[in-house]
Amino acid sequence: MKTLRLILGDQLNIKHSWFKEVDNDVTHCLFEMRQETNYVKHHIQKVIGFFAAMRQFSADLTNKNHHVIYYRINHPKNKQSLTENLSEIIKTQNIQTFEYIYPDEYRLEKQLSDFCKTLAIPSKVVSSEHFYTQRDDLKQFFKGKKQYLMENFYRDMRKKHDILMVGNQPEGGKWNFDKSNRNKWNEDVQIPLYKYFKNDATKVLEDIKKATIETIGTFKQKTFAYPITRIQALEQLKYFCEHLLTHFGDYQDAMHTKETYLFHSRLSFAMNLKLISPKDVVNTVLNYYRKHGAEIHISQVEGFIRQIIGWREYMRGMYWALMPEFKNLNELNNYNKLPDFFWTGNTKMNCLKHAIKNSLENGYAHHIQRLMITGNYALLTQIHPDEVDNWYLGIYLDAIEWVQITNTRGMSQFADGGLIATKPYVSSSSYINKMSNYCDDCFYNKNKKVEHDACPFNSLYWNFLDEKREQLGNNFRMGMMYSLLDKMDKQQLQNIKEKAQHIISHQDLY
Ligand code: FAD
Ligand code: SF4
Repeated sequence: MKTLRLILGDQLNIKHSWFKEVDNDVTHCLFEMRQETNYVKHHIQKVIGFFAAMRQFSADLTNKNHHVIYYRINHPKNKQSLTENLSEIIKTQNIQTFEYIYPDEYRLEKQLSDFCKTLAIPSKVVSSEHFYTQRDDLKQFFKGKKQYLMENFYRDMRKKHDILMVGNQPEGGKWNFDKSNRNKWNEDVQIPLYKYFKNDATKVLEDIKKATIETIGTFKQKTFAYPITRIQALEQLKYFCEHLLTHFGDYQDAMHTKETYLFHSRLSFAMNLKLISPKDVVNTVLNYYRKHGAEIHISQVEGFIRQIIGWREYMRGMYWALMPEFKNLNELNNYNKLPDFFWTGNTKMNCLKHAIKNSLENGYAHHIQRLMITGNYALLTQIHPDEVDNWYLGIYLDAIEWVQITNTRGMSQFADGGLIATKPYVSSSSYINKMSNYCDDCFYNKNKKVEHDACPFNSLYWNFLDEKREQLGNNFRMGMMYSLLDKMDKQQLQNIKEKAQHIISHQDLY
């Protein structure tokens, strides 16, 4: 029985049971395809990262004597479509069974399950053997509940997997050390030098150029900062434990003009491609903490573990619980377009300039830049969630729909009306100034609301609350802000709204 097994670009899990033994009747296939490079315009480093990781994975399988068919982007047999490539191989290689791993994206899941219905040979789908949870676990956990609170899910994960637990109580006496994760960073707290990895990125870049694939952002071999093999990912994880974990929680929400990554791990790309698993990450961090507990406070460790077993697994569960309807939600009725400066960084707003330039130069921004700078601005200016999704899906190396759309449309844009976040993540300049040094040398004045040099976030914030009163006025977490709005002088509110309207209709002037 000749079997064909498909490996998608984000299924590079060498620990998968498929690869335990070599079977001469099995051929694995991987394709670099326009279907994947063109469904949205991606960052150049994202395309390079995917192709470089896939090529290396294929070479590793071949070295272990597995049979592999690999189509590079310019391969003459490459039809640039997943199902056309599969059909052709099934026909010409006389394949008798087709197998694939559950895709993490709804569109690929649909494409492959529809394809299997057309096949004359049997097909089989297997687990990715990557996540802690199964796709539907979260849906079952919240069955019958009105709200899908991440914190409840997270506590259950801690108990179920016995992570940072003492008996049935949380280690350190608290489930959540979020409140101690809110320090502003300054240059006195040193960040160790980063060790970049070797890779084949320049060769991959040549192929991408030859194929004339349209991309965004820039690439420099010297500063490509993401692991593309399992060995590199494990090295990166070790580096994180030894140098960054000690301050991870403290500066998790901090932003600074001189630093892109601060104490963040840069592991999302490797994890999303499944080069390493969340269990690899959590177990390594816990082991390190057990050995070096005297140097590392539990708040740093809990803050990090929450991102992995909490937010990451939660977002995946929410994706499968809410798709495909989720992709069309726009509960706040936002219809504006993203300004051009999201593709150039050319704005006088210093916070946006830095967050966007980081993204264009590195295909990276950390979660507070994504949430409270670009996301906050997009929501306050009432941009259509499709526009916001497309930008986030294209620009970040780690952007794969299951984890991008839940964070963007749900968490950041509140387009689901509060299924994921309990309130919209919006702020005026005060939060941005509290967590960063962006306001210090900004063209705009963080304390002003309507003058020509007033910080745009200030008028946009109050205008947003006023305009969305119907949808948000009854949200108990917004009560204090609405009572402040109600106390505002009518003329002052009118001036603020006029200023906000000017900003919204002339975004590229700001
Ligand atoms: P660290 O800060 O070191 O965190 C460790 C790990 O925790 C990350 O690698 C990631 O796997 C996980 N994690 C942290 N926060 C989240 C979260 N909110 N959801 C899921 N996993 C999380 N993450 C993606 O992987 N892909 C995306 O497309 C993506 N889009 C986002 C869009 C918005 C608007 C926001 C607010 C967040 C988004 N995130 C996304 C989550 C988070 O910003 C990134 O995972 C993180 O910045 C990756 O960098 P890091 O590996 O250095 O993370
Ligand atoms: Fe951003 Fe306003 Fe601060 Fe400037 S003053 S950096 S626009 S928050």
